[in-house]
Amino acid sequence: MSKVVDYFIDHKQGFLDDLFHFLRIPSISNNKAAVEEAALWLKRRLEASASSLKIIRTLGNPIILAEWKPKTSDEENTVKSPTVLIYGHYDVQSPEPLDQWISPPFEPEIRDDRIYARGVGDNKGQFFAHLIAIECITKFSKLGLRVKFLFDGEEEIGSPNLDEALIQEKEFFSDIDLVFVSDGPADPSWKPTLCFGARGIVTAQIYLNSASNDVHSGNFGGIQPNPAIDLMSILQTMVDDNGKCLIKGFYNKVFSPDEGALKAAEELNRTPEMYQKFLGISYFGGEQDVPLVHRVMFRPTINIRGFHAGNIREHAKTIIPKDAVVELDFRLVPHQQPTQIQDLLINHMEQLKTRSNRWKLMINRCDVTFEAGFAPIYTSLDLSWTKILAQSITEGFGETPVKIPLLGGSLPLYNLFQYIRKPMYIIPFAQPDQGNHAPNENLMLEWFEKGVITSMMLLKNLGSKSVK
Ligand SMILES: [Zn+2]
Repeated sequence: MSKVVDYFIDHKQGFLDDLFHFLRIPSISNNKAAVEEAALWLKRRLEASASSLKIIRTLGNPIILAEWKPKTSDEENTVKSPTVLIYGHYDVQSPEPLDQWISPPFEPEIRDDRIYARGVGDNKGQFFAHLIAIECITKFSKLGLRVKFLFDGEEEIGSPNLDEALIQEKEFFSDIDLVFVSDGPADPSWKPTLCFGARGIVTAQIYLNSASNDVHSGNFGGIQPNPAIDLMSILQTMVDDNGKCLIKGFYNKVFSPDEGALKAAEELNRTPEMYQKFLGISYFGGEQDVPLVHRVMFRPTINIRGFHAGNIREHAKTIIPKDAVVELDFRLVPHQQPTQIQDLLINHMEQLKTRSNRWKLMINRCDVTFEAGFAPIYTSLDLSWTKILAQSITEGFGETPVKIPLLGGSLPLYNLFQYIRKPMYIIPFAQPDQGNHAPNENLMLEWFEKGVITSMMLLKNLGSKSVK
């Protein structure tokens, strides 16, 4: 493999020039012309090394599928090596506000050993690292396993056409053994990172419209119901003083973390003091009887993300508002599903009607709506891949990775995960302060290079493993 690594080091400038070219294409998800240009650029690039290639025309942006067949110089190597799928997306977020960029978002520039450009971390630079690894390995006929690549063109808008492509191209996905995604930033500890999943999310809005108009709080105070107070009463039925969600059945399907996950959580060594200092808090929210680190990854949460009624400060009016609205989000863990939580919330509201006639009339004036959510994704740490992946990352980065069983936040990868039903791993090649979605998005050259070498090690080490 050292020949392959040397080849990359010797040709690094050429690879960077190519990446810069790609970054200059402003492929914001809704910029059809630029998205098409980026897809065609990728197609041309892949044609040079891939065994096969296909552009899927969807109702939205194209999805590109590519495949590299194993080709090893070792003729005796007949073990059935695994098939890896790598997911990347070539669409990018809009770069606004433009005036906050030090250099223009689509004119990549290196400053302080970082590449600055929209999409360099999210996600062009990260998947390009894998592509370079494959290109370098195939130069020396050393690819010891089948590699497939899925390039999404609509990740930043929730991949609305990915499902259809997955179904249409069933054959392509039929022999996958494991999936890698290199997206998002590494752990805030600045250590290389191996993630095994992410919590899901579902959001709900409860709108209580209790009267036709805002009215004088003196003239009608005591008669017209106050929707903010009523909404607070409703919310109080959903969570107790110890942070437990009271919605019936909320914890029914919550998974029990396996041994590997518990050990990895322990090894993260996150102390209460760390959280207190980082967040500027003096007491903790959530389930009081659950260890802190478990609360952010192994347990579901209920959160009020916003509450609005009436007006305050310079807009203050002494009225009884006619309506109030609250928005909730629930973070989900395996094996919870967004639709299940939606049903439980609806049931909860229905149940409240039985409290009294007044509650019944109040709930009848509530409108509950949901946004589409993501289900959680999770791969057990106890599988034998864990060791190979951690070893490869250590070889690439020169440092043992932190293992994160579940990211607290959510990723739109559930559809892919659910469809393929194989272990999925998130291995970010971008440093923690990459500023994805923000002005001055950047990728450190050092992290990019270590990403390329990590990918080479992953493909080498997995290639020597037999599936059965
Ligand atoms: Zn993004």
